[in-house]
Amino acid sequence: MLNLILFGPPGSGKGTQAAKLVDEYQLLHISTGDLFRYEMGNNTPLGLEAKSYIEKGELVPDSVTIGMLRNKVEANPDVMGYIFDGFPRTETQAEALNTLLAELGEELTVLLALDVDDEEIISRILERGKTSGRPDDNDESIIRNRIEVYNRETAPVFDYYDSFGKSEKIDGIGTIEEIFDRLVATIQTRI
Ligand code: UDP
Ligand code: MG
Repeated sequence: MLNLILFGPPGSGKGTQAAKLVDEYQLLHISTGDLFRYEMGNNTPLGLEAKSYIEKGELVPDSVTIGMLRNKVEANPDVMGYIFDGFPRTETQAEALNTLLAELGEELTVLLALDVDDEEIISRILERGKTSGRPDDNDESIIRNRIEVYNRETAPVFDYYDSFGKSEKIDGIGTIEEIFDRLVATIQTRI
């Protein structure tokens, strides 16, 4: 299997590139943010719990997120591989993902980190907010908090996988096709 983490700050293009990578490699796309929005849309208990964090730009607690991710993976064992988008967001989540993949006799192929600076990210998210219907995309103070949380809690996940030689940084500025070509070129060096 080909197991990818698409990594990077909010608004760095993970969702856009994940959709293209799914087409290219026939992977199952798992976006924990999308899973939470689906639960919120249905007002499930999980959705209501997630909403209380997401509306502030905070992280949903690890135990909740890891449980949801595990269910999704275990429900889809017969796939060519997984592309994790927006997960893991903490080192604890990264360790849980390692355990889960090991249970499947699998391991991570590579973490691909989209590199985009903060000002570019804020302007992209505010632009996306005009049409995404996401309250967390419409308020600059929430966006800034998401970036702070990313820098504090999530950025260390890059170093964690880097210590196993599994992290790659990709220039996230350019056209969608240019960035996609960079991602594919990097994946090809790993398979
Ligand atoms: N979120 C979370 N854990 C996750 C995924 C999402 O806590 O594993 C929350 C967090 O509050 C985040 C929001 O959901 O700010 C939106 O996540 P998403 O990944 O959709 O946003 P992105 O970072 O891609 O803009
Ligand atoms: Mg996203």
